[in-house]
Amino acid sequence: LAQLFRPLDMLGWVYREIKQGLIDMEQMFTLLDTEAEIEDAPGAPPLAVSGGHVRFEHVDFAYEARRPILHDLDLDVAPGATLAIVGHSGAGKSTISRILYRFYDIAGGRVTIDGQDISQVTQASLRAAIGIVPQDTVLFNDSIAYNIGYGRAGASQAEIEVAARQAQIHDFVMSLPDGYETTVGERGLKLSGGEKQRVAIARTILKDPAILILDEATSALDSATEADIQSALKRVAEHRTTLVIAHRLSTVVDADEIIVMDQGRIVERGTHALLLARDGLYAAMWLRQQAEAEAEAMEAAE
Ligand code: ADP
Ligand code: MG
Repeated sequence: LAQLFRPLDMLGWVYREIKQGLIDMEQMFTLLDTEAEIEDAPGAPPLAVSGGHVRFEHVDFAYEARRPILHDLDLDVAPGATLAIVGHSGAGKSTISRILYRFYDIAGGRVTIDGQDISQVTQASLRAAIGIVPQDTVLFNDSIAYNIGYGRAGASQAEIEVAARQAQIHDFVMSLPDGYETTVGERGLKLSGGEKQRVAIARTILKDPAILILDEATSALDSATEADIQSALKRVAEHRTTLVIAHRLSTVVDADEIIVMDQGRIVERGTHALLLARDGLYAAMWLRQQAEAEAEAMEAAE
């Protein structure tokens, strides 16, 4: 009976979350396993991942035909490299991740992984190759073990614990009276933003995808928690192709390439040092965030 009720109360809960605008598009699709209007090409083969080389070639995209969002976008992320995507809210950053996950088809151009057009392979194989740590993680009303284990069907308790250790949440879980069997979510123990994000990171570690997408949530976290999460994320990103949508520029300093988005276009690209020297939009954002961080530090000291 519990099996029957889980999808039902999930629906009710997803509905509430959507109404409250709390839930991310990615999560809604992931949770409901909805395929939107995207269908597999007839006889589509599975994606064969070699190194996880991601390319966008002249990509044009619109959610609604009359309002183009991305214009002639080119990206080339080498296997194992990290691409950071920065820019103001509404610039099109999350749209890039939705396209790579193929929640939407593009209007022009091509997106490939290891040379294969993502619209010509099965969605199941595409999505198995990509892990997303979203901005705002919503948990299932179930145990912590279930919430982490969801990353890979059939994962053992031992594997779940290894992932939890890497995500730096194991000690916290062990401090709870019911440990991994603690029920979390709306009707269970309410976890903090940082704890929820670490559960999502553990889930992704367990999934072990070739390609990782991080939509950074930082605003809700205190700086100690943020530092912990950053170090956990760094470990997950190692040896994987990673796209990181960064709100705090301090986290992109080491990226192989940073692209600066504005109104659906890439307006600057390069390494941190190169972009600072260029003294454009990125440099201005960097200076402003440095000033804000200093002001915060001053306030805290008072
Ligand atoms: P960012 O992540 O940089 O803040 P997004 O990629 O989420 O920006 O959004 C880019 C633009 O696309 C915004 O103008 C936004 O309003 C629009 N947009 C996002 N999602 C949808 C959608 N589902 N339908 C229509 N427009 C959307
Ligand atoms: Mg976004």
